[in-house]
Amino acid sequence: MELSPFAKEAKPSATLAINERIVKKRAAGEKILHMGFGESPFPVHPNVRKALCDNSDKKSYLPTQGILPLRERISSFYQKMFKLEYLPDQICVGPGSKILLFAALAALDGPLLLPAPSWVSYQHQSRLLQKEVVAVETSVENSYRVTPESFEDAIQETSTYPSKQKLLLLNYPCNPTGHSFSASQLKELAAVARDYNVIILSDEIYGLTSYTEQEHHSIAEYYPEGTLVFGGLSKDRSLGGYRVGVVLLPEGQDELLRTMVSIGSETWSCVVAPIQYAAIEAYKANAEMVNYIEDCAMIHEIVTKYVHHRLKDSGIRCPPPQGAFYLFPDWNEYRETLTGKSIDTSDELSNVLIDFWNVACLPGSEFGMPIDNLCVRLAIVDYNGETALNTFQEDHKGAIANPELFIKKVAPRIVETCDQLEKFTETYST
Ligand code: PLP
Repeated sequence: MELSPFAKEAKPSATLAINERIVKKRAAGEKILHMGFGESPFPVHPNVRKALCDNSDKKSYLPTQGILPLRERISSFYQKMFKLEYLPDQICVGPGSKILLFAALAALDGPLLLPAPSWVSYQHQSRLLQKEVVAVETSVENSYRVTPESFEDAIQETSTYPSKQKLLLLNYPCNPTGHSFSASQLKELAAVARDYNVIILSDEIYGLTSYTEQEHHSIAEYYPEGTLVFGGLSKDRSLGGYRVGVVLLPEGQDELLRTMVSIGSETWSCVVAPIQYAAIEAYKANAEMVNYIEDCAMIHEIVTKYVHHRLKDSGIRCPPPQGAFYLFPDWNEYRETLTGKSIDTSDELSNVLIDFWNVACLPGSEFGMPIDNLCVRLAIVDYNGETALNTFQEDHKGAIANPELFIKKVAPRIVETCDQLEKFTETYST
């Protein structure tokens, strides 16, 4: 059978593909340290589990935009947790933020400005939609952040420069680097966006996993009229498989909302009915849920910062994380010796790491980096989330005061991964 040119662009998501590869290796008895797939490991909050059971009789199709009580709850949640004011009518719920991003990219005209590195799916979605994509350059010295200058340079390369609409994808805290932005950095980017008619797709799905010293701000605070905010339950509430994402649209954008809802109504129809009801509970910003979110975020912070320190101590360059549970180290400083050992690309680097060092990770090329940039993405979640959460809740002060002891106890594979990366670097640096 012949495929359409459009479908030929599609390939399995790299993150899901590595997961399958690892499942096979493990089934064959190989020990794999899994730093490839970014799934938050904590157990479902008991209130959400109960709400799901209580609503298992809900079986009807529901509104594509999401049921009103859920959108009302999301509206209050964003008000309380992020100080963002959105009416339920400005909110659309979908089966994951990924498909909502796709719907937004499909609905909005104009080329997409995409920072490199960026999460894998943005570029593939844009290709499926045959959208013009222009890379926004970043530098490792600036933790791969978009700056007003690099943003403006990229704007000038678009076919719609200067005044016609363009889109910018901004993701913070960032997958793959863990960086975020300060309020003043966001204000500067907002000013450039306003000057050049750029709509910002602000992927803030990791907003509530921001680390202690990093207060999360949304660019929507400074550019509400031109920002779409994306979020969901997959990361800070560890509910990736529930498939609940949300998008908050600017006031008065009724046509955009109608278009996105139409796309939804012709494709996914609605989020699964019992899940929509359970999500009402998951979006309750009461003390129990907020404590759960904060505890999980703190564990991510402790474990990810530990790995970051270990990498640095092993002579591996890696920008410091400010949120989420990823690191983006590179071995470019060792290029000469690595090239001598036939490691010239990030693909070759990640293959050597998985085949000879049992460390599974994704090559930087999957995140839009040049193939010869020797960087990889590590997802720091290979531990039992239930044990980690219980241990943390029994003695959170102890875990914060002595992170190493806590990690050795609850996340031994993480320690082993650091040991392996240290040995790899020692072996390959000379
Ligand atoms: N955005 C980023 C940056 C992500 O890392 C992910 C998931 O890995 C998503 C969006 C999609 O999340 P979901 O579709 O589960 O809401």
